[in-house]
Amino acid sequence: MSTSRQFRLAARPVGPVKASDWDLVEAEVPSPGEGEFVVEVTHLSIDPAMRGWMNEGRSYVPPVQIGEVMRALALGRVTASRHPRFAEGDVVQGVFGVQDHAVSNGDGVQKVTLADGISPAAYLGVLGMTGLTAYFGLLEVGRLQEGDTVLVSGAAGAVGTAVGQIAKIKGARAVGIAGGPEKCRLLVEQLGFDAAIDYKAGDLHNALRQHTPARVNVLFDNVGGEVLDQGLTRLARGARVVICGAVSQYNNTESVTGPSNYMALLVSRATMTGFVVFDYADRYPEAIAQLSQWVSEGRLISLEHTIRGDIETFPSVLLELFKGTNTGKLVLELA
Ligand code: NAP
Repeated sequence: MSTSRQFRLAARPVGPVKASDWDLVEAEVPSPGEGEFVVEVTHLSIDPAMRGWMNEGRSYVPPVQIGEVMRALALGRVTASRHPRFAEGDVVQGVFGVQDHAVSNGDGVQKVTLADGISPAAYLGVLGMTGLTAYFGLLEVGRLQEGDTVLVSGAAGAVGTAVGQIAKIKGARAVGIAGGPEKCRLLVEQLGFDAAIDYKAGDLHNALRQHTPARVNVLFDNVGGEVLDQGLTRLARGARVVICGAVSQYNNTESVTGPSNYMALLVSRATMTGFVVFDYADRYPEAIAQLSQWVSEGRLISLEHTIRGDIETFPSVLLELFKGTNTGKLVLELA
């Protein structure tokens, strides 16, 4: 490939993203300077957080600026290097952006050794940021104990599928909330969740009562809004509410209103804690080793929803997340 294409932010979206929020720009394939290497991007991680990165305003990372390459975690192969630690042919993972080729100085980049029988996309999923988020969110922020009941929203998504499975590995009861009967069936029949509730079927309140008879010790929330509000009604005494994300709110055109059932925290002597996985960066190696072991033992199933396409399909693939098309980690594999 002699030219490289990049998605550059053109406008701050209002509501759901649209293709015109980016400019698709063609450029020469870059050459590495001293201490740099060039990566050909093969897999783009499609994350709900991308929608937030497009907004102006204070967050846990600076917003993508107008004219900048759209931020994205990605997997790729080094095609040219003038860097002492990275050689041509290395498979690497990092924040390479939505583009065919990226130049890197190695900051925040990890080498990846692809294992037989594990798809490359898994290194962006359960063996990447997704798995790390589930691991630290559940075990550190949620302080999971054997015998606990874990209720996870967005359960059939990338983080959610890992949370429920880790809960089971640790001897807890796992109850998921997901959209639609097929996703719910998969959670129970393939991933070993004890129960799954279809929030689109209505009467979430009674379904939660039915499936969490001993109430909930860890509420791991990926979704926010009404689902979080209903989850709060089921807290056990001393429960930990883990605020991982709020995907139902990311396309809001009006400001988010907080959960009206927050007094459940007082009644249950519960805590509600937000977290960002990056804060655990110094412990990633330990977590990746554990997650890899569980995968190799067949105890943690890596579930990816890989869409194969040209980089031009990026805006429509990002929209699929908010439509709930994906089961497991959504990845765009660049053709
Ligand atoms: P994901 O769950 O794989 O994908 C999004 C899912 O959210 C969809 O499949 C859909 O599933 C559900 N959804 C979409 N719109 C919704 C709505 N309006 N109401 C309810 N559910 C909706 O995404 P992920 O990568 O695993 O991320 C999950 C959450 O973790 C996100 O909130 C993300 O921002 C957060 N996160 C946080 C950190 C951190 O460090 N704190 C790190 C990574 C991710 P259904 O079909 O079931 O509706």
